[in-house]
Order: sequence, then C-alpha cells, then structure tokens
Amino acid sequence: MLELLKKYFGYDEFLPLQKEIIASVLNGEDSLVLMPTGGGKSLCYQLPALRLAGLTLVVSPLIALMKDQVDALKSNGISAEFINSTLTFSELRRVQEQALRREVKILYVAPERLSLDAFQSFLSRLKVSLVAVDEAHCISVWGHDFRPDYRRLGELRNALPGVPFLALTATATERVRRDILGQLHLNQPRQFIASFNRASLNYSVLPKNRDSFEVLVDLLQKHKGESSIIYCTSRKETEGLAARLREGGFDALPYHAGLENEVRRQTQERFIRDRVSTVVATIAFGMGIDKPNIRLLVHYDLPKSLEGYYQETGRAGRDGLPSDCVLLYNYGDAAKQEFFIDQVEDEAERRNARRKLGLVVEFCQLQSCRRKYILHYFGEAWDEENCGGCDFCLVPREEFDATIIAQKILSAVIRTGERFGINHVISVLRGGNTKAIRRWNHNELSVYGIAKEFSTGELKEIAGLLVAKGFLAKNSGDYVTFRVSESGRIFLKNRDSLTLAMPKREEEKVSSASRAALDYDQALFDLLRELRRRLASERQVPPYIIFNDVTLQQMAYYLPQTRDSLSQISGVGAKKLEDLGETFLSEITTYAQSRNLEERDFPVQPRQPGAIRSRLRKLGLGPHDVDGG
Ligand code: ADP
Ligand code: ZN
Repeated sequence: MLELLKKYFGYDEFLPLQKEIIASVLNGEDSLVLMPTGGGKSLCYQLPALRLAGLTLVVSPLIALMKDQVDALKSNGISAEFINSTLTFSELRRVQEQALRREVKILYVAPERLSLDAFQSFLSRLKVSLVAVDEAHCISVWGHDFRPDYRRLGELRNALPGVPFLALTATATERVRRDILGQLHLNQPRQFIASFNRASLNYSVLPKNRDSFEVLVDLLQKHKGESSIIYCTSRKETEGLAARLREGGFDALPYHAGLENEVRRQTQERFIRDRVSTVVATIAFGMGIDKPNIRLLVHYDLPKSLEGYYQETGRAGRDGLPSDCVLLYNYGDAAKQEFFIDQVEDEAERRNARRKLGLVVEFCQLQSCRRKYILHYFGEAWDEENCGGCDFCLVPREEFDATIIAQKILSAVIRTGERFGINHVISVLRGGNTKAIRRWNHNELSVYGIAKEFSTGELKEIAGLLVAKGFLAKNSGDYVTFRVSESGRIFLKNRDSLTLAMPKREEEKVSSASRAALDYDQALFDLLRELRRRLASERQVPPYIIFNDVTLQQMAYYLPQTRDSLSQISGVGAKKLEDLGETFLSEITTYAQSRNLEERDFPVQPRQPGAIRSRLRKLGLGPHDVDGG
C-alpha cells in the first residue's frame, strides 16, 4: 500500500488511522470513520479502490465538489467519474458505459440517484467492491444536514452482502454516530475515531472596537497573497466591509445568500482558483468547498454557537499548514445577539440559543487555553499543558503574587457599589478623572488611585483572571457589571494569598501562525504559485489539483533539479511527475542557477521524517480511541 501511496498520491507515509482503516476495508469489514476536516478521509477509500477488483462507489451529497474530486483523481492517474444532475444525458450514458466496461475504478454518485429505478438497474449490472458513504451524518435527522435519500443506503447495504461499506464523517456527536450505525445497517462495524484537535490552526480572540478595521488590515497584510475568509452576520456588512477593503487595496469580494446565483458561483469559483484572495461572507460560504489553503479565517462578528465556530474555523488549513483563526469580540455584539434571541417565540428554542451564545461569550473571555476549552466542550479529554497554538498559550506567562492587587480590585468593586463595569472600576483604581468618577464622587473613595503602578491593560487582565477564578461574578442585566462572589468575599475575609499567571511584560505578543513549517524561499514559492495558477487556468481545474501548498513549499526549500529529486517531494506521484515534472523543474532550475543556489539534501529514509512527523503533530491526529482493534 505504501508503494501505491507514493506512486499515485506522491505521499511517503500514512496519516494517523489511515493505515488501520484501509486494512479493515481490504479485510472486507464495515467501518465508521470519524475524522476532522483535513484528516485525510478520502484516501481511506481511494487507495483501497486501486487494489480491489471491482468498482468503488462513493456516495456524496456535495455535487459541486464532485468534478474537482474526480479531476484530482485523474490528475493522479486514477480512472474516476461522477454521476449527478449536472451531467447531460449523453455524458451520463458515456459514464455508465465506461463503468460497465470496467474502465472506471471510482464512481462518485449523488444520493438522489439511489431512488431512481434506472440507476438501480445500472447498479445491479456493476461489480461493486466497496461503497464509501461520505458525509455519513446526512443519514441522521440529528445531524445538521439531513438528506432523506441517504435512508436508501440501508437498503443498498442489504442488497450488497459481502461488499464492505465505509461511512465517513467529520460530525461526531454520539447521537449521530449511533444513528449512522443503525440506519446504514452496518455489519459489526469497526469504529475509527480520530482526535478532533486541529493542531495546525491557531486560535485567537481580539477585542473588537473602533480600530477593528485596522486589525483586519494588519491580519490581511500578514497574509498577503494568501486565501482568507472573513465572516460577518449581515449581508449589508459583507458588502460594506468588502468595499472598504477594496478601497484599501485588497482584492476582496462579498458573498451572501441575497446575491444572484451567477454572481455567487463566480465569486466561489474565483476564490477556489486563487483569483481573489479574500471573501467577506455570511457563514453559508465555505460549506461545500474543498480549498485546502485558506490561511486566515476571521469571525468579524460573534458566532452563534461553539459548534458553528469550530465548523467554520475547520475550513482553514486543511492541508495541515499553519493557519490563523481570529475572532473579534466585544460585549456589544453579544448584547445585540441576545436582543435578537429574546424575540424568539419558542421558549425552549430561545433558552437553547441563549445557552449556546453564553458559551461563546465564555470562550471569548477565557483566561486559559482556548483549544483545551473547546475540545473539552466536545467531550474530548485533551490535556496538554500548552497547546502552542492559541493566544493564551502563545504568550509567555509568569506567576506572580497577586494577593494585594486582587484585594484592591475586589475592594474597589465593593466600594463602588457592585454595579459598574470593569472599566470604571479600573479608572477608580488608577486615579482617573472621568465624568463618571466626578459624578459619583468616586475620587473620594479610599480605593481611589491605589493601583497606579499597574497599566489599564494589566488591571483588565487581572480582573479577567479573577472572573475566571470565580472571585468576581457578572450581574444579570443589560450592562456587564460585576459583584464580588461568595468565594471572593471569603478570600478577602481570610486574607488568603493568591498566585496568578500573567503575560510577561517585555515579551511581544505572538499571535500569528503564518510561519511555515519549512524555511522555504518565498520568491521561488511565489513564482511556482504563479506557474501553478497558469497551468490550472489552462486545464480549467482549481490550482490545488495541480499541486498543493505543501508540495510547492517543499520545492521552494529543497530546490530539486532532477526528476529523481523532484519525485521525492511530497505530493509528486508518477503521473504528475510525467505530466508536470519538466515544467516545474525548468522553473526551479532557472531560478536556482541565476542565483547560484544548490539543491538541498533530502533527509535519508524515511524521506522526510521531520516534515511528516510535524505534519502529524500539526494535524494532531494521534488516535485516542479505536474500537475493536
Ligand atoms: P478530509 O476529507 O478528511 O477533510 P482530505 O481527504 O481532503 O481530508 O485530505 C486532507 C489533505 O491531506 C489533502 O490535501 C490530502 O491530499 C492530504 N493527505 C491525505 N493523506 C495524506 C498523506 N498520507 N500524506 C500527506 N498528505 C495527505
Ligand atoms: Zn492553548
């Protein structure tokens, strides 16, 4: 299988669980695979398909993706076709005839085909060796994307005894999982469950205020020339923001359900083909696209739930290269959403929406690792000390004795009557001269000006830690105000001591994951990317089908100048070496010679252990639960 992996896909090693899943498939067993986006699910059926005598049928609801998936397989020298409603009658006939002549290894079909008699009779004349059910959660009404046609798959399972079924999904709730197993009638299925940690994604939350547009500009500048998505809530906002960005010299386009179909289609197409870098969109955008190199994903408005947030951020960095997910947060946004939630008629629905939003707010205000919080929320026991990829973990911290300052903050909250926001309390502590202070005579309090040695930012940080610790509690009401909790009072009364961890002062905040895994030559990478775009355009396929970013970065690092060395690059299989080798070699050679650069040695067997291992680490796919084996 390793030989086939290199020959057809150009990869040297399997990603976690791929090997086990493929073995199970080749053993004729039914399996259920739960893996996050980018985990490498497709390979789990595409590779066995090459070894099996008959046809591999792939059922997928993502019609818009089928052509690209098939083109990607063909570009690797694998015979694949698809059947869905976009085919003309004569195209359909051609594909069916080819399949009957056994010239097709992998056939993608849309689920609604399963209900057609004509398709059933076509199917009965095929020799099917494997059925892969992609997006298997569509079979469950509990999932987020129920497709009634998926229910026909249970019958198909029964009609094809002895043919292994492989169900795959990135949606993993317990209920949906049980539903998939039951509805599909799987035979003593094995379950493969990967960790849902997306280690290549860097999570951060930044305050949203009047400067948030500047923040956005900085982020886009840092990711210049790379693909990014900015999510907004309203249609109007997507258009306004895209226009402002264009004025600022960025190539950005809006996308929302109110635009005409043709405009939407074109925007998506341009994004996939690297002809526009930034799409400012409502969350509908990105669902059915497979683009592997989205490097920046911004939530400009607050997501409605953590499930949504995780799914949307999951669209970034599918190729396993570091990518930034940034959420801009202020309490006003949350209050605005609460207002809308309060208009919901149905009480259960309203409460649920409030609970979900509350968790998002908690996530934003977190004073601990964001990754850990979210993985625990999804029920995964993930307990690394430092995730190395969230704004909390990336800022070096040091512990300090916070006893006195905590006493001061809590006292100030009490003295001001436990009915102010934290900004006011901080102004009092720093001896400020604001309208509110004058109005309430807070300059006459004993706590006035007793914490001038701390900056406003530091006091905010410490107050946040006191909230996290439970010493400060939020009052209910329209404005965020604080009171001292029961445990906070006990702390004050007992004169307990308190240690907190704060960001180191002199250290600059590291909040970017834009560093690449390899220290590659950026200018050459840009040239190769341009070449890729040109070839993709000629062949009318998305650029990532030519080569993905990982491959181009390795080329721009190792500078391969012979066919032999080129073939060692990840992602260069036999077919692509034949097809594209000369073109890329000549680009690399010209560049290297004009600058007197030499090829870099490839690490000895396995070819790129570091790169692979770091990719595995980045993907964070170490199996934590494999049933039945
Ligand atoms: P999923 O369907 O689980 O989201 P994909 O099948 O699209 O994931 O794979 C994600 C990315 O990982 C793709 O770019 C794919 O080419 C790459 N990939 C898959 N298997 C391997 C492997 N063994 N080695 C290196 N890259 C891989
Ligand atoms: Zn972290």
